[in-house]
Amino acid sequence: MNATELNTTELENLKESLLQQKSSILNKTHEFKEEQSSMSNVADEAEAASLDISNNISIHLHERDRVALFAIERALGKIADGTYGQCESCGEIIGARRLQARPFTALCIECMEEQESTSNLFQ
Ligand SMILES: [Zn+2]
Repeated sequence: MNATELNTTELENLKESLLQQKSSILNKTHEFKEEQSSMSNVADEAEAASLDISNNISIHLHERDRVALFAIERALGKIADGTYGQCESCGEIIGARRLQARPFTALCIECMEEQESTSNLFQ
């Protein structure tokens, strides 16, 4: 593979963007909790039924955010210990362009293609 490793500036930019994504998710989670507590005041039955639906959507988003947060934390941890940009499966360098397009990826393209059938989350 002719993968180009991330340079220091690119890595810093990526870390910055991960931190921004993290704080935006945490802010959203905070809003979500506030929304939940205000919802508990609704007495009307019809309204409560429609809230059920929007609650489900919120919970779904919340779950997605939780997964995203986990991926962000994992990427930040790797940046901290200097293993970011290495394929978790074969140890090869993951190309800078691939990392910038998919900052949460843990696998190089070859390993990703091998594992694509079992998991395509954040790859
Ligand atoms: Zn690999």
